[in-house]
Amino acid sequence: MIEAKSLTMHYGTTRAVEDVSFRVERGEILGLLGPNGAGKSTIMNILTTQIAPTSGTASIEGFDVIDQPIEVRKHTGYLPENVPLYMDMEVGEYLHFVAEGRGLQGSELRERLDWVIVKCGIKAMLRRLIAQLSKGYRQRVGLAQALVHDPKVLVLDEPTSGLDPLQIIGIRDLVKELSADKTIIVSTHILQEVEAISDRIIIINEGRIIADGSRVELQQRAAQGASRMVALKGDPSAILGNLRELPRVRKVTQLEAVDPDGVCIFAIESEVGQEIWLDLAQMALQNGWLIKDSWEQKPSLEEAFIQLTRATTQPQ
Ligand code: ADP
Ligand code: MG
Repeated sequence: MIEAKSLTMHYGTTRAVEDVSFRVERGEILGLLGPNGAGKSTIMNILTTQIAPTSGTASIEGFDVIDQPIEVRKHTGYLPENVPLYMDMEVGEYLHFVAEGRGLQGSELRERLDWVIVKCGIKAMLRRLIAQLSKGYRQRVGLAQALVHDPKVLVLDEPTSGLDPLQIIGIRDLVKELSADKTIIVSTHILQEVEAISDRIIIINEGRIIADGSRVELQQRAAQGASRMVALKGDPSAILGNLRELPRVRKVTQLEAVDPDGVCIFAIESEVGQEIWLDLAQMALQNGWLIKDSWEQKPSLEEAFIQLTRATTQPQ
C-alpha cells in the first residue's frame, strides 16, 4: 500500500508539490497524469526516499519514508525517469550486481534473476553491454532492476517514454500482469497512456491534485460538457429563443451564420445523461423548422484534461 499525506516540496521559491494526498491499495494501478513540470517525478522521488519532502508524510507498506527508509526501499521497486545504468557492464552482470546489492544470495538470487529476465524479455541481451542496448531494451533492464527483489510496491516514472508502439504495449501488459499482487504507481504526461494502463487517475498540475477518480468517473466528468448539435432551417432568433425554453437545457449557442440554404447550427447543452432529442423533434414539428442533421458532440478525456489544467494554471 502507498499513502501520501499533504506532501509538499519547495525548491527555493519553486513550489514543485503542494499538499498532495492519496492512497493506493494492493492490486491497484494509480496513474499520475500531468504536463511536464507538474511535480510527478518529485512525488515519486519522495515515495522512494530519494528526497525528503519540505512537509507532509508518506508511507510504503506502512513504513514511513523519512523514519524507515531502509524498510521502504526493501519493499519498493523504482524505475526512475532516467535509469541509472552502468554503461560498461553487461546486462546479466549488472542485474546480478543489483540483486546482490539488494541482499539476494544463492538459489534465491538465481531464481529471481531467471524470473525477471524472462518477464522483461531480456534473455537474448544478457551478454550485451548496456551501452549497446536500444532505448527499449534499456527500459526493460531498468524494469528488471526494479523487480529483482520482488517488491510489493512499484513506482514507475514515465516507463514508456521514448519507446515504439510495440514496446509500449509490451510494458503495459507487463505492468497489468504485475498489478495482480502489487501496488503500482505510474506517471505519464500522455493521456492515452494513463487511460490504457490505470484503474485510477490523479491529474496534477503545478504541484496540486486537480482531479482524482476512476477512469470512468473522469470520462463521465468530461462528458458533462456534451452537446446535442442540430442543424435547423428556420428563423434563427426564434429558434434560439424557443430552444432555450426546452426542459433540462442549460445552454444554447448558435454556432455558425445561416448558410445559403437557410440552415443554421445550434449547440444544446443539457443536464448529464438527459436526452433532449424527442422534445427537440416535437418543437421543430410544431414550429415548422426543418431538421437537416443532428449529432452528439462529446468532449474527449483529452479535452477535459486540457480544460482542467488550463483552469488551474496560474498566469505567469
Ligand atoms: P514532472 O516530473 O511532472 O515533469 P518534476 O517533479 O520533475 O515534474 O518538477 C516539478 C517542478 O520542480 C518543476 O518546476 C521543476 O523545474 C522543479 N524541480 C524539480 N527538481 C528540482 C530540483 N532538484 N531543483 C530545483 N527545482 C526542481
Ligand atoms: Mg518527471
